[in-house]
Amino acid sequence: MFDYLVVGAGFAGCTLAERLAAALDKKVLLVDKRPHIGGNAYDHHDEHGVLVHKYGPHIFHTNSRDVYTYLSRFTDWYPYQHRVQAYVDGRLVPIPINLDTINALYGTSFTAFELAGFFKSVAQPRESIRTSEDVIVSQVGQELYEKFFRGYTRKQWGLDPSELDAAVTARVPVRTNRDDRYFTDAYQAMPLRGYTAMFARMVAHKNIKILLNTDYHEIENSVLYDEVIFTGPIDEYFDYRFGKLPYRSLQFTFETLNTAQVQPVAVINYPNDNLYTRVTEFKHLTGQEHAKTTRVYEYPQAEGDPYYPIPREENAALYRRYQALADATPGVHFVGRLGTYKYYNMDQVVAQALTLFARIAGMRRAECVGA
Ligand SMILES: Cc1cc2nc3c(=O)[nH]c(=O)nc-3n(C[C@H](O)[C@H](O)[C@H](O)COP(=O)(O)OP(=O)(O)OC[C@H]3O[C@@H](n4cnc5c(N)ncnc54)[C@H](O)[C@@H]3O)c2cc1C
Repeated sequence: MFDYLVVGAGFAGCTLAERLAAALDKKVLLVDKRPHIGGNAYDHHDEHGVLVHKYGPHIFHTNSRDVYTYLSRFTDWYPYQHRVQAYVDGRLVPIPINLDTINALYGTSFTAFELAGFFKSVAQPRESIRTSEDVIVSQVGQELYEKFFRGYTRKQWGLDPSELDAAVTARVPVRTNRDDRYFTDAYQAMPLRGYTAMFARMVAHKNIKILLNTDYHEIENSVLYDEVIFTGPIDEYFDYRFGKLPYRSLQFTFETLNTAQVQPVAVINYPNDNLYTRVTEFKHLTGQEHAKTTRVYEYPQAEGDPYYPIPREENAALYRRYQALADATPGVHFVGRLGTYKYYNMDQVVAQALTLFARIAGMRRAECVGA
């Protein structure tokens, strides 16, 4: 007899399993249909011994001290500041767009102050900022929008930026200084021995039993439990009663080269050339030393594993119908990227899981990360 059946062993599921077992002494059955824990953040050593992320590059960054403190109980960290370059007009330039990007692209020698004036001269202010196109064009104008954003977004989402919520590109800043870090969060680091090692420590508790290669449908009627934490797709849970929530998927192609390093930075974006969106060289992220190096190419596609909830108002409206159903279903808690159909980063999912845990435990959020 279990107190909780936790469906999905990603960030959401492992955080809740750990908290329920360790802080409330609950008996937990953690089930995942994949052959491993870690969800989309799963990493492993490939056949050449290079540490890779099976479901695409995962860079940890957060402004939440709670989340960082909580995860630090299960891992040491490798300090890492993420850098990305974009292949535009036949050359590699920093992205987010900064002073060096513009000077390299246009052969100018603007100062930061002059660049602010340049952006002002090319920006096309829009009355209301509704779509991803509005966000960018109103900041840097049509030409830079075409060079850096339009093609990338169309490949990534299969939609024009004018059809996507502002939230998608609102994540990408534009800078007038030379800061070429992709993120500016207070905490930026990678789990020292990888994500999977961190998850293994989270769920290594006598109260947690783990069942892999198992869809929860296979066991839901043969195992006794009080409540369910569901981190799979919410529409799947309700048998797609109102229709399918749309997701964007990816195909990953890995390549190992007989050289220690090939890229100047971890990620190269290809906004306009090639079918793939970006190429990631893992050793930049992990700090691993190895004679070989492995890269992954990402090809966006409509079909396949559900990776990205598509941020459009009509999809949010469909989700709200499922959410109302979830609210009216006692004993089942929905959480995580798929469970709440939110385009969340890892830290946001941990924060969401901790908040749910605090609610279940009747604790204040600040108390719930304790040992
Ligand atoms: C390509 C890519 C790159 C990303 N990069 C970053 C990044 O750099 N930084 C960042 O912070 N975030 C990144 N993210 C987001 C990050 O992956 C998520 O925020 C996080 O992994 C979500 O955790 P989760 O537990 O909600 O879901 P998941 O990790 O998806 O876990 C859900 C689990 O539920 C299981 N499951 C589903 N249905 C069932 C079922 N019926 N029965 C049993 N098990 C089931 C699945 O197999 C899965 O393991 C990226 C996402 C993608 C796709």
